[in-house]
Amino acid sequence: MPGEAKLYGINRLRETLVVAESTRRSMKGNKSRDTKPEIALRKGLWSAGLRGYRKNVRKLPGTPDVVFGRAKLAIFVHGCFWHGHECGRARVPTQNRAFWAEKIRLNQERHAAHESALLSKGYAVLTFWECELRREQEALINRVAGILRERRQDKP
Ligand SMILES: [Zn+2]
Repeated sequence: MPGEAKLYGINRLRETLVVAESTRRSMKGNKSRDTKPEIALRKGLWSAGLRGYRKNVRKLPGTPDVVFGRAKLAIFVHGCFWHGHECGRARVPTQNRAFWAEKIRLNQERHAAHESALLSKGYAVLTFWECELRREQEALINRVAGILRERRQDKP
């Protein structure tokens, strides 16, 4: 039936568009540098006088957003949606629900693996949520400062 074929064509097109959009968003969510929360973290570190870190360190598991090398502290900033934070910003869209749920689950699984790889290399790992950084940035920065103090004193 020609009508059906046409409708099928439209649905295919729609499907392609949805997939293209989700791919684009997923690249953005997972791979992009200098997202807003990362910038907020770095600004906070800067104004607390915490410098000398490297950012987006690819040679470490999970490419931590911020790494203090001497103190061996790796920091990740997690987008609430991409890592499934239960804070309300993370609601999985009703369209393509299974796709998103799986994607988020994989992100969580991957992060857990990266975290334990870092720990076994002797790193301390902090993972901040995007929404925490917005609400309580000062407290988070203080935590970073505290860990840096401890871990730098440990060194001879
Ligand atoms: Zn959140």
